[in-house]
Amino acid sequence: LSDRLGSVFDRLTKQGALSEADVIAALREVRTALLEADVSLPVARDFIKRVQDKATGSAVTKSITPGQMVVKIVHDELIRVLAGDEPADALKIDNPPAAILMVGLQGSGKTTTTAKLAKRLKDRNGKRVLLASLDTNRPAAMEQLAILAGQVGVDSLPIVKGETAVQIARRAKTQAAMGGYDVLFLDTAGRLHIDEVLMDEVQAVRDIAQPRETLLVVDGLTGQDAVNVAAEFDGKVGISGVVLTRMDGDGRGGAALSMRAVTGKPIRFVGLGEKMDALETFEAERVAGRILGMGDIVALVERAQETFEAEQAERMARRFSKGLFNMNDLKGQLEQMQKMGGMQGLMGMLPGMGKMAKQAEDAGFDDRMLRRQVALINSMTKKERANPDLLAASRKKRIAAGAGLEVSELNRLLKQHKQMAEMMKKMGKGGGMKQAIKQMM
Ligand code: GDP
Ligand code: MG
Repeated sequence: LSDRLGSVFDRLTKQGALSEADVIAALREVRTALLEADVSLPVARDFIKRVQDKATGSAVTKSITPGQMVVKIVHDELIRVLAGDEPADALKIDNPPAAILMVGLQGSGKTTTTAKLAKRLKDRNGKRVLLASLDTNRPAAMEQLAILAGQVGVDSLPIVKGETAVQIARRAKTQAAMGGYDVLFLDTAGRLHIDEVLMDEVQAVRDIAQPRETLLVVDGLTGQDAVNVAAEFDGKVGISGVVLTRMDGDGRGGAALSMRAVTGKPIRFVGLGEKMDALETFEAERVAGRILGMGDIVALVERAQETFEAEQAERMARRFSKGLFNMNDLKGQLEQMQKMGGMQGLMGMLPGMGKMAKQAEDAGFDDRMLRRQVALINSMTKKERANPDLLAASRKKRIAAGAGLEVSELNRLLKQHKQMAEMMKKMGKGGGMKQAIKQMM
């Protein structure tokens, strides 16, 4: 047993924090995973570099290898980048009729997605929707949209032969306004590659339609080209969001990361098939897991982190309820308070301490005070921290001087410590302590 304990401690001390070498080694595998998922090369490179800076020096959870820890950090960062900070499905469709312009390469799924979105807005939001195809290149394209409109039960603009895309857009706007529609979808012509003429056309349509949303539809199986497509459409037309289609296939969807990195625009929806209800709100967590393809490791680390926190909470609760609340514990609490937005933030979380927080604040207990108190504890010796009863007058003087503060301030800290120790003891007896500690971590 002691052997096993020994090796655990060994590992613990060796794995306090991620070294640069640990991180670089682990990120080599992550890089391969990203490229295999079709994340474009420069995007993968940038992402890796940022994670490297972030991860180096981070703490490693007990019983987890540095490599596993790095994977978890990558996973979290991937979610952060993919999610952005606005809700994914918040299409701006107030001020009816709101035009939504659908753009993208040919075959990316614009027409299909237009009909899917129309269905969604009709079914979920009770919106009246009008669809208009601006695809003058392929006569069948207009038919296709009209058929899909019929399938999902929304109206489509009557087809008039010989009109230009701009003329159709103008007619559609008028029709949408007169017909009392809430939303007008403008489904633009496909293009095989980025093409100047068609780009100019989309710009002209945009100027006429004044869309509230311009959604770039991208095939989720797109690889390295995703970056060019995104940059070009965003630069020339200006997009407000992205829809990733064909995410029902085998592809790992690295295009999602490329799109986000290049445009900074939110990924709104994910297409999951040819059927009209095969559309879902984009979920960063799910797509991140798919891109990285290391779900097992992430789950392992998450479990270890939970276990670790639970163990720590338990240990602390046990100590506190025995009245063992020394200066190190107080320091931990004070630092935690600073991290959590001060006294109010912390006390708000502990059951029944809201009133105390108020009193403390009234007594001038603020964040500057937290810092001064931490400084005082820092200038105590190890022994003094473990046993504050040692603090006779001469020691107090030394400690206060070390922190550049008055002895009266130290006395205040000691009094507070006593009160807290008492309170912890009481709370520990009453139960609920473990929960409170867990919440603080
Ligand atoms: P557009 O040229 O951009 O308008 O593309 P379309 O909407 O015509 O779609 C091209 C093809 O892709 C059609 O056969 C669609 O059924 C298919 N498609 C579109 N979205 C998806 C999707 O999310 N998953 C799958 N499997 N097929 C899709
Ligand atoms: Mg089309």
